[in-house]
Amino acid sequence: MPSIATRIETVRRRIREAEIAADRGPGSVTLLAVSKMQSVEALRQAVAAGQREFGENYLQEAADKQDQLADLAGLHWHFIGPLQSNKTKAAAARFDWVHSVDRLKLARRLDAQRPDGLPPLNICLQVNISDESSKAGLSPADTLALAGEIGQFERLRLRGLMAIPAPTDDPEEQRQPFRALRELRDRLNRRWGLQLDTLSMGMSADLEVAIAEGATIVRVGTDVFGPRPSPAAKP
Ligand SMILES: *Cc1c(COP(=O)(O)O)cnc(C)c1O
Repeated sequence: MPSIATRIETVRRRIREAEIAADRGPGSVTLLAVSKMQSVEALRQAVAAGQREFGENYLQEAADKQDQLADLAGLHWHFIGPLQSNKTKAAAARFDWVHSVDRLKLARRLDAQRPDGLPPLNICLQVNISDESSKAGLSPADTLALAGEIGQFERLRLRGLMAIPAPTDDPEEQRQPFRALRELRDRLNRRWGLQLDTLSMGMSADLEVAIAEGATIVRVGTDVFGPRPSPAAKP
């Protein structure tokens, strides 16, 4: 199996080539290494390879890893999993970003629980862009409404939108939801006079198409760390 350093180098090259193909500047896309179910040792290898942004889906697992990596400075933690209202305190205290805000109640609690002394919590609204009833996220209409309400929260900084489109191998089908998310972001900016700069979209299998459609954060797990251990073998 290739080392994590080699995998990261390969993903970074893919990102760079996609930036060039889309006429976008170098470094305009951030690689978020999705480290759910990966060991602390795997994260250390990624940090040694220059990776600083990490995405986690489970709060307890993330807290354990953050404590074990407390000797490392400059890491940025993004919460990308479904968030229950009664778990917002840990998300507000331990993360720099939450990508999965999908209701006003979550925003209100994250704002109230963001500790003094930390900068505002960066948030994205999660949008159900492929319109599948099984998928989490706001409808475009509800996204528009909620974006207009986030401004009242002083400890939150609304940065943009996140989506997890239904997987497909067809690049043209991949493109459609990414484009729709970008257009929705642009609509929010016009409607509310915002400057949302973030589109969190694209994973291992479709990051090139996402970058072509304006992704600024790609969330990559498998292609950075290799296959995830099965839940039974979870560290
Ligand atoms: C697991 C996960 C990813 C990474 O998926 P890969 O296919 O392993 O790259 C990205 N985004 C979210 C929200 C995830 O839960």
